[in-house]
Amino acid sequence: MSYYNKRNQEPLPKEDVSTWECTKEDCIGWSRKNFAGSDTPTCPLCGSKMIDGVRSLVNLQNNSQTASS
Ligand SMILES: [Zn+2]
Repeated sequence: MSYYNKRNQEPLPKEDVSTWECTKEDCIGWSRKNFAGSDTPTCPLCGSKMIDGVRSLVNLQNNSQTASS
């Protein structure tokens, strides 16, 4: 028995996305920079200041063809 399937699913493609990250320690608030204005936003959850960050997010709109040879 194995925890892993033998036929591994292809890992979902991820891309690094610029984000705003909430500075409050116990807050999970963050947002994509794409959707934010040019000014430093405040956290929608707690209202704290947000700082630059980067997240690897799954690119759900990946249209690239399956690699085949
Ligand atoms: Zn917050």
